[in-house]
Amino acid sequence: MHNAAAVQAASSVEEAFRLMHKSLGRIVPEFELRMKAEIAFRINRLKREKNAIILGHNYMEPALYNSVPDHVGDSLGLARISARSDADIIIFCGVRFMAETAKILNPDRTVLLPAREAGCSLAASITGADVRRLKEEFPGVPVVTYVNCYADVKAETDVCCTSGNATAVARHLFAQGHRAILFLPDAYLTQNVAAEVGAKVVFPRLLGGPGADAIGPDDRVLISWKGTCEVHEQFSVEDVETVRKQFPDTVVLAHPECKREVVEKCDYSGSTSGMVKYVRDVDAPRYLLLTECSMGDNIVAENPHRELLRLCSHRCPHMNQITLEDTLDALEHNRYEIHLDPALMDRARASLDRMLTIG
Ligand code: SF4
Repeated sequence: MHNAAAVQAASSVEEAFRLMHKSLGRIVPEFELRMKAEIAFRINRLKREKNAIILGHNYMEPALYNSVPDHVGDSLGLARISARSDADIIIFCGVRFMAETAKILNPDRTVLLPAREAGCSLAASITGADVRRLKEEFPGVPVVTYVNCYADVKAETDVCCTSGNATAVARHLFAQGHRAILFLPDAYLTQNVAAEVGAKVVFPRLLGGPGADAIGPDDRVLISWKGTCEVHEQFSVEDVETVRKQFPDTVVLAHPECKREVVEKCDYSGSTSGMVKYVRDVDAPRYLLLTECSMGDNIVAENPHRELLRLCSHRCPHMNQITLEDTLDALEHNRYEIHLDPALMDRARASLDRMLTIG
């Protein structure tokens, strides 16, 4: 059982502390854990009073991840849960595009993001106007966008995808007879999916690339954008080789937002939930996760018998804005509420619904 469920049932701060200490005692200093347990206890009590639920992304800091979320997971898993929630309030402990997704999928609920601006370099890399220009350059070509984008981009999209189902979405569209797909906005995810599905990557003229001139009659093509994740793009082949030199028996797992040459050097590539499951299910002497560092702590809290190496110099400044303190403020003061134009949400929802149907 995810440890947060037990903490949420605690009848006192002391009991909450004891349960959190059991899983986090080796990760979070005791004096800090006492303060966190008190805040978590208040959040869990208020959450029940207000009929709220908390969704926590896998990148949340360990004290939060292990105490207050009703559900934890990756973008895809949390999108599915937010679509069917009947809570009055959904608090999204993640970044803004995720909270927007929850609002789009469940527009009658109040959706709160505990930090006013928890952004994302990928989401900031593209706008709805960019997508409209791409559609002019490639008329009739279906648009797939990674869920890491804002509502205006989703509204211009045919099908959304996440790192958990990006390959399935591309395969689905090629199987329907499409030869080219606008695959936006993450350049590295596009390369990694292209390698999986045997497609060629082409950059649009809009970005100075060859555009349609580079698409041959028998090609399968993913048309790429220039976005990157500011965390995952920093991992290098040298990082993997250096770790393997010191610990040759390390199993290396990479998120598909990492560069293609890095993914090629790894033993496994998948979404954050895929990585969590891999470490839980596959025995190895030790693991290295090429992703946001907090996730390693959360996996160790759940699997204390597993040994994880850490490369913690690359952190997500956006995910790190979400704290237990801010989550309590969000719940107490109903902030920061996500507001989106209803017509825009209707258009964006269609692309999310197609994603949830495909896989
Ligand atoms: S880890 Fe990367 S993709 Fe995820 S929110 Fe941070 S910047 Fe965006």
